[in-house]
Amino acid sequence: MSRTQGDWTQGCARLLIAVCADCGNNWYLPKDRCPRCGSARQSSVQPSGEGRCVAVTLLHVTGEPGGAPLSLALVRLDEGPVVMGRVDGDLAPGDPARVHLLPSGTGTTLLPSFSRKAVT
Ligand SMILES: [Zn+2]
Repeated sequence: MSRTQGDWTQGCARLLIAVCADCGNNWYLPKDRCPRCGSARQSSVQPSGEGRCVAVTLLHVTGEPGGAPLSLALVRLDEGPVVMGRVDGDLAPGDPARVHLLPSGTGTTLLPSFSRKAVT
């Protein structure tokens, strides 16, 4: 993990997790205080981007004729937090996964997406 500033929610092509300076807990998406101990002392770090898929679901969007369903995954990062993102390719629960930041359907935003990590 390396320290850095700004993530995909701020237009930067990276995913960040927060780490509590008091208890070492880490979590995904900004919170003012540590969800475990309530401390306000935290730093942002860039995780490895690797983890394991824990769930996949298909989202059918109404009002878009001919639109393919959107496949979403929950992936537990190796650092611990669970991240939701789109599925890029084939991914099933239990698969090793890697995060990528890919353009949204409109191409204006980068969103977390997961693909199956090749096992070597
Ligand atoms: Zn804490």
